[in-house]
Amino acid sequence: MRFCPLCSGSSGNATYIEAGNARLLIDAGLSCKRITELLAKIGVTPANLSAILITHEHVDHVRGVNILSKKYDLPVYANAETWSMLREPLRDVAPKNICVFESDRDFYLGGVRVLPFSVPHDAIHCVGYTIAFGGHKVGVCTDLGHADARILSILSGCELLLFEANHDVDMLMAGSYPYLLKKRILSGSGHMNNEDCGKAIVKLCESGVRNVILGHLSKENNYPELAMITVRAALEDAGIADRVQIAVAAREEPTGVFEL
Ligand SMILES: [Zn+2]
Ligand SMILES: [Zn+2]
Repeated sequence: MRFCPLCSGSSGNATYIEAGNARLLIDAGLSCKRITELLAKIGVTPANLSAILITHEHVDHVRGVNILSKKYDLPVYANAETWSMLREPLRDVAPKNICVFESDRDFYLGGVRVLPFSVPHDAIHCVGYTIAFGGHKVGVCTDLGHADARILSILSGCELLLFEANHDVDMLMAGSYPYLLKKRILSGSGHMNNEDCGKAIVKLCESGVRNVILGHLSKENNYPELAMITVRAALEDAGIADRVQIAVAAREEPTGVFEL
């Protein structure tokens, strides 16, 4: 299994996962041209992708999907609610490439088990994904206001997890965002802050998660060192800092290829 966050943050998100006969792209939130360049850096061409899996309709997750699918004849998977929001933005996706799944129910692509699971976020029906193959399991879970027991249980046992550390609450409060936007981000269906992210990772460590890549960092209200320090402090408080490897996903570069 190979796992590579290609880009991560409010400017654009995409993660490449290869396992079995499947080469999957979870979200394509930069332009087709830019996604193609980022894939080339890890030796992959979009023509060889099996499918694009969409988490939700926000533009930082779907910006490149329409052209990628049209140009390379790629199937696009999303739940029915998300598709209802994407008819216009994804108007050039051929009907045969419009693939609808049911959230919280697994399915198989190229022998790989894909589980899209619902997460609380201010989109019509946002999902995260776990991808499992040959005894390995990885997860992508960004854009969520909070992680409840159900989500933590779904992510249990992930060997590698891309998880949201969106903002520092003090930076957000002191920053220039309008009040209503701040309120939306801070809500239970907004984005995960660094401290809550740290608490969730402590719980995930108890269920076997050992490698976490912090992702979807806000450009204005966070920075990589602060996200790292806050999460590591939570792990140290819990006495488990030596049991979990933490990395931070780069904003517009592949964050290395993780092999399982
Ligand atoms: Zn979003
Ligand atoms: Zn997003």
